[in-house]
Amino acid sequence: MAHIDKITEEKIKDAARIEEVVGDFVQLRKRGVEYQGLCPFHDDHSIGSFSVNPSKGICMCFSCGKGGDALYFLMNKRENPLSYPDALRYLADKYHIYIDDNDHERWKNLRPVNPTPIRFTQKEPIYLSRDIVRETTRSKDDINFVQWFRSLEWDSQQRERVESVLWQYCVGGWRDGRVTFWQIDETGRPHSAKLMRYQDNGKRSRTENPGWLHYQEGIRERLDLEKCAHQSCFFGAHLLKKYPNAIVNIVESEKTALIMAVSKGSLEDNLWLACGGLQHFKIDMMKPLFEQKRTVYLWPDRDGMNDWLDKRKQMPKDADVRIYTRFIEHYWIEDDGPKADVADITLRLMDHPETAPKQSPELVGKIIAKNPEINKLVDPDWNANEPFYMLTPLQQRLHDAVERNKKLKKQQKDIDNDREPKE
Ligand SMILES: [Zn+2]
Repeated sequence: MAHIDKITEEKIKDAARIEEVVGDFVQLRKRGVEYQGLCPFHDDHSIGSFSVNPSKGICMCFSCGKGGDALYFLMNKRENPLSYPDALRYLADKYHIYIDDNDHERWKNLRPVNPTPIRFTQKEPIYLSRDIVRETTRSKDDINFVQWFRSLEWDSQQRERVESVLWQYCVGGWRDGRVTFWQIDETGRPHSAKLMRYQDNGKRSRTENPGWLHYQEGIRERLDLEKCAHQSCFFGAHLLKKYPNAIVNIVESEKTALIMAVSKGSLEDNLWLACGGLQHFKIDMMKPLFEQKRTVYLWPDRDGMNDWLDKRKQMPKDADVRIYTRFIEHYWIEDDGPKADVADITLRLMDHPETAPKQSPELVGKIIAKNPEINKLVDPDWNANEPFYMLTPLQQRLHDAVERNKKLKKQQKDIDNDREPKE
């Protein structure tokens, strides 16, 4: 067997497209920016836990926790796992990368016959008992995430909200020290909880993938997973009923929702929901929001604008849903990194308030500075210098009107200039 040199090895790794490699063995269907299928690492019977992320080049399973790149997949799939050299050969063959190898015939046979088909069965949703919610919320004090969250540099007003926010969102802990982020729907039924391990510094464990409560020992035995399956709903969805007039802000991560719920102020005005990652966002989850005719802001991470635009396009045109990027545009700095989200920036501003931009909310700030009376109409509590700002719908309208006016003036000027060219 010939040796494959390092350069060729890198070439092979570069060429491999995870969705194509996994797709050779597992039937995949597209779900947003990702693909889903039955998990090739464990005996999986329902779609939902295994996903393939082309932009990250990885696949992963929430149920068994296994995941990795194309080579990992080939070497760890349950049926006919390949050795490292064979996995490289498989990819070299697939992507027509020449390797000097006399064992050619043998690795040609590594090709799969047919991908395992997806079984599309309609399953009943899982509902877990409220006792389990209670059990987890009672044991939150020992959880790294909760300790970290409490230790943040909150100001005195924010500090008063910390416990209430943790409690209202039912943040809890599992027996193994992972935090539980519950998904309880708008009618109060607990669907499941996402389990995540956090380090002392509030960063996620790099070695452990998130898991779901309904797959845990002691819970899964009580469920008939052949007949029922987890259905995603928003983290925080159960609070919709309690705060019927709040603007609904949707972010990706649960941690972000919690940080914003404390830092931004009253939940009565701004409720924060998390989809738990864009790959878990399904349009179905928006149904209660549409039915309740809520005003919704989608908050993309700095690099997530286009993905959210795609989601928005799938929603009814007349729904009051807009993508909100103003905060990130205004406050983001290089140090936050290309993928920063609103919570990363908020935490940085908490630790280093001096990094806040000096000029506060451009146009609206200027108008209000010139004419403080306007602010009484718009938002009596709004302080143009506060760093954690968000425009209320009224301020937004004012802002839009000013922008429109500016544009019209410019157009008029252009027309005037045309008529009376400069001498
Ligand atoms: Zn799995």
